[in-house]
Amino acid sequence: MTFAKPAADVSERMRGIRRTGTTAELVVGATLRELGLSYRKNVKALPGSPDFANQRRRWAIFVNGCFWHHHTGCRRATVPKSNAEFWTEKFLANRRRDARAIRSLRSRGYNVLVIWECQNEGLHRRLQRSLKRVA
Ligand SMILES: [Zn+2]
Repeated sequence: MTFAKPAADVSERMRGIRRTGTTAELVVGATLRELGLSYRKNVKALPGSPDFANQRRRWAIFVNGCFWHHHTGCRRATVPKSNAEFWTEKFLANRRRDARAIRSLRSRGYNVLVIWECQNEGLHRRLQRSLKRVA
């Protein structure tokens, strides 16, 4: 048995995940522009700092990385073997924070969409449908 370097291993994984995470974000941005919907990115004034939002029209979109936000039932939502307890706690805290932000936005009358990075396939078409409803 060899000893892997957990820190390097995990940070390697994070880099990869951040890269793929941007793909869904690009699709969302492109779709919003295509529909002529104006938005701001990373809106820190709103709970959870939504990735895309329009405060006047009251909608917000989160583009979640499956690993960090621990997408239920998703094969990307793995738990690193080293420090599993730490990660399990961290993912739980992330999920609670996400849920709180969504509740808080909804209580302010926002339509909230959560997009997962693994949903690239068909995302464009699905988004068009959803956005026509909410925005
Ligand atoms: Zn996923």
